[in-house]
Amino acid sequence: MQNAGLAALGLNWRYLAFEVDPENLRAAIQGAQAMNFIGLNLTVPHKLLAVEMVDVLDESARAWGAVNTILFEGRDGRGVWQPLRELAEVPRETRSHGFNTDAEAITRALREDLGLELSGTKILLLGAGGAGWTAALKLASEHLAELFLVNRTRSKAEAVAQEIRQRHPGLKVTIGYPTSPVDLVLNATSLGLKTNDPLPCDEKQFALRHAGAVYDMIYRPAETALLQAAKAAGCRTANGLGMLLYQGAKALELWTGQTAPVEMMRRALEKDVYGPQ
Ligand code: NAP
Repeated sequence: MQNAGLAALGLNWRYLAFEVDPENLRAAIQGAQAMNFIGLNLTVPHKLLAVEMVDVLDESARAWGAVNTILFEGRDGRGVWQPLRELAEVPRETRSHGFNTDAEAITRALREDLGLELSGTKILLLGAGGAGWTAALKLASEHLAELFLVNRTRSKAEAVAQEIRQRHPGLKVTIGYPTSPVDLVLNATSLGLKTNDPLPCDEKQFALRHAGAVYDMIYRPAETALLQAAKAAGCRTANGLGMLLYQGAKALELWTGQTAPVEMMRRALEKDVYGPQ
């Protein structure tokens, strides 16, 4: 999707994938910086490690405690830090600037793919791993009416709830299933990646017909058993492809300074993930 985006913007840049051992992450970032790369994306398990390795953290990376996008910058003639794309000559001094585009992508996907305005809503969030943690904190900043957290390992949901209570003391956070309807059920567990996985939502405790919409962060398979059950129960549904797309689109905007050609990128991503339709 990034190469499709770069081509649509008429840039002769290339987006390449490198497999890096976590032990070599610092050297890899410094190497890319030394070679005047425009930027980097990082994925699991590098996102948390990179927080300690970049020269400057954007507010987004500080807020979520993770870096998934790096922008390399150099000083211009007046000594001001600029993205490398803005500089006519190779600068003598460069720095790495860490951002996080994951959290915004979650709420953008809920708004654009489910038509959900989050303010005043009640949400059941399943999962408190890396993605669940970020989703919980991001949702908590969106003026919800109430947030319900369910996770196999209860202590992790409790830790997330504690963090939310510190950051957003006004928000009602409940551990466990809701006893009345919610606007959204959001699956951030890995249940559904395998075809014989049980549903991440215990239907004995919460029936999906009491949810207005269901979002599954999983995008392969395109329709998990959860999304099938949700559709059958009359809920609006969307899978996690939008989340992947929007974090990438935002990263492309940071590197290029231009609006990302999102629909071109979506088509390229769908082709890559699901094959030619
Ligand atoms: P993670 O840190 O490994 O967390 C996994 C989560 O799933 C935890 O809450 C874990 O519960 C739960 N879980 C795993 N196996 C389970 C089981 N057998 N029964 C009940 N719960 C179980 O992974 P992650 O990075 O947060 O990713 C979670 C999901 O989000 C994955 O499916 C991933 O593909 C998806 N994701 C999608 C995007 C996107 O762009 N669409 C981005 C990131 C992640 P415990 O805490 O009890 O272990």
